[in-house]
Amino acid sequence: KTNFSQPIMLTKNQTIKTEITDMNNLGYGISRQDGIVIFTDGGVTGDVLEIKIIKTAKDYAVGRVERVLVPSEKRDDSLCKVSKRCGGCAFRGIKREYELELKRGFVMSAFRKSRVDAVINPVLTDGVTCGYRNKVQYPVAPGGDYGYYARHTHDIIKYDACLLSDPHLEPIARYASEYIKNAGANVRHIYLRRGQMTGETMFCLVSPSDRLPEEQALISGLIGRFPEIKSIVHNVNRTDGNVILGKDVRVLYGRDRIEDVLCGCRFGISSLSFYQVNRGAAELLYREAIKRASSGSPERIADLYCGAGTIGISFAKAHPGISVTGVEIIPDAVKNAAENAELNGVSNAEFICADALTAPLDGFGCVMIDPPRKGMSQGLVGRLCRIKPPHIVYVSCEPATLARDAAALISAGYRMADVTPVDMFPGTGAVECVTDFVI
Ligand code: SAH
Repeated sequence: KTNFSQPIMLTKNQTIKTEITDMNNLGYGISRQDGIVIFTDGGVTGDVLEIKIIKTAKDYAVGRVERVLVPSEKRDDSLCKVSKRCGGCAFRGIKREYELELKRGFVMSAFRKSRVDAVINPVLTDGVTCGYRNKVQYPVAPGGDYGYYARHTHDIIKYDACLLSDPHLEPIARYASEYIKNAGANVRHIYLRRGQMTGETMFCLVSPSDRLPEEQALISGLIGRFPEIKSIVHNVNRTDGNVILGKDVRVLYGRDRIEDVLCGCRFGISSLSFYQVNRGAAELLYREAIKRASSGSPERIADLYCGAGTIGISFAKAHPGISVTGVEIIPDAVKNAAENAELNGVSNAEFICADALTAPLDGFGCVMIDPPRKGMSQGLVGRLCRIKPPHIVYVSCEPATLARDAAALISAGYRMADVTPVDMFPGTGAVECVTDFVI
């Protein structure tokens, strides 16, 4: 029996000509053929390509570029030698303006999928697209070479000139690799962090052993060559698996932390605490959140998912008459936040260690939230919808969960303001957003 509604199926290994009409946040070009959506790695909107179908599924197929027949005007030759193998930068091969347009489009489509009418502003950027990452975590191969994992594997691509990483960190990583080779050290990761406003740099090696070989020589070698290193730590991680850092931290030299300046405040950053990897863009994001949170002149605000307190302390310093309560689940980060408040002479901020789900919500004129990618827990959404704080400012690193939570708040009677996306991770497919809700 012939089923005429069945689309003509593409078959594996078939070669076809196709025109790319869109791109997704993994950097795949999208085209349509016989009603089937085809995802082609390396395809750019506007390209006419000859592709080979390498996978077929029920409602989509995956293609591989065989030949570029007509290159798109949106292409921009990648300056990175390994971007195709590494896969860390979904958008290394396209023009910057188009990247920003795509990111705005991703936010729009997330709200559309959640059936929320939203005004999405153009994507804010500080204009820095290279060298912005203040943290590197290089996997080390047996033998001491380091680099990046090849896409979808744990094979290490030897490479030390990632365009996203702060270039000050490269010579330090090379020195670490020489040490690992010469001393025969069993190191899994070279982890470096730099406070870009202070220059202070943290050097950390992650290994499964109690001590590193020739520690004294390593320390004197490092501080002799790199005076910006203010903290040398050894992180002991004996567990298998994907988590890079263990819980045991041995300070070999200096302090257990470095300092950086963000929104005019100084922040101590320890090896384990969360700190935004793009300082400049984080400032744009925080200023936008702070501007919105202060707009209704609340007496008290809550800062849920506060990490080391960066947003709340920046807010408290700018608004000494408003008291801030930060809530964070990781005890070490809460301690860090309290120390950071003191470092900045901020007395109108307090921090409590709790699950945001159980955080106090009564009596706050404004509740700020900055959850991880999975968004707010549904329990917290439910409590907000019941208690109804007059103003909610939402900082989000995942448009899909922002849109989902927005839909729930709107059905409880909130009105959503415009959404401002911020480009925290130029070159990659990720995008952050700030918006706010009033009732
Ligand atoms: N606002 C901070 C941190 C954002 S990252 C900044 O901008 O630097 C999200 C934070 O939420 C992390 O510090 C994480 O430890 C914390 N977190 C995750 N789940 C949580 C929960 N259920 N309750 C409270 N905090 C949580």
